[in-house]
Amino acid sequence: MKTTTTEKKNIRQLSLSELEQYFETLRQPRFRVKQVWEWLWQKHAHSFDEMTNLSKELRQELAAAFSFPALTVDATQFSADGTIKSRFRTFDNELVEGVLIPTEERKTACVSSQIGCSLSCKFCATGYMDRKRNLEYDEIYDEVVLINDQSEGTFGKKLSNIVFMGMGEPLLNYKNVLRAIERINSPDGLGMSPRRITVSTAGVAKMIRQLGDDKVKFKLALSLHAANDRKRNEIMPINETNNIKALIDALNNFYKMTENEITFEYILFKGFNDSPKDADELIKIYRQVPADLVNIIEYNPIDQALFEKPDEAAIQQFMAHLEKNRVNARLRHSRGKDIDAACGQLANKS
Ligand code: SF4
Repeated sequence: MKTTTTEKKNIRQLSLSELEQYFETLRQPRFRVKQVWEWLWQKHAHSFDEMTNLSKELRQELAAAFSFPALTVDATQFSADGTIKSRFRTFDNELVEGVLIPTEERKTACVSSQIGCSLSCKFCATGYMDRKRNLEYDEIYDEVVLINDQSEGTFGKKLSNIVFMGMGEPLLNYKNVLRAIERINSPDGLGMSPRRITVSTAGVAKMIRQLGDDKVKFKLALSLHAANDRKRNEIMPINETNNIKALIDALNNFYKMTENEITFEYILFKGFNDSPKDADELIKIYRQVPADLVNIIEYNPIDQALFEKPDEAAIQQFMAHLEKNRVNARLRHSRGKDIDAACGQLANKS
């Protein structure tokens, strides 16, 4: 359980029944627990002082017993296309980013699950940072709440979708990601449907199986980006221990257990994975998994990597090849490139 430097327990790490037990020791009536729980998960208080329907004594008692570390917005950048990138500061002064991607129909939050990342994908700015630590589930929840506030404040609309495609590998922070999603889904949390949430993984086969065994209700995206092991090893070192065959098996297990939507993500890199042969290999994988969709993503250059975006004709040829073979593929143009908020660009830059 997370503690602050003063070693007090984080109150949001308590379950409802643990909080009830604590209130029994205080001889406080049960409705007080409900009030505090509401402040923690629905009214989004960030300090005990904000819990104005509690007596001052009770607030002081809670503050003496527990810590209440909450994420704060450290900096915000606005893209010309409407995308908003936020840098959040944690209680221990770490920084992590989240993005609000608005379209006419959707307001999507792209959230982070770790501070930095250990998987070192070659095309991703986060992959060039060290992994500092996992985000706790209440910190992930805070990211969503703060981005939802931005969505309501800027566009007058609540978030419609959440994608775990920010910094970090969600399946290497499995418990916190699932617990955060439980709070996001819960009627006494944000009350958002799991069908509107997509968790994206670089491919941790064992944990994809675990998602199936846990019968989760959210959608899954696999960042494939190369359709044979030799090329995938080159750009995603995790493939050396989680090869494409292992991922196909794990995805089939996920689908068998949940019937939830699966998407492949495939960034096109000029001269690396954009040929008709690459498309054929991608089609072969698509045929082995009950995937709904292949998202073909425009590459966003980062300082460290040498890849380039293919020219438009090559992109169109690749798409036409997929369509001819009846692959449900969509070309995604990334948003927020001018503020380094696009796919693969998150790196806490100012
Ligand atoms: S793409 Fe995802 S898993 Fe790979 S380095 Fe970036 S954040 Fe980590």
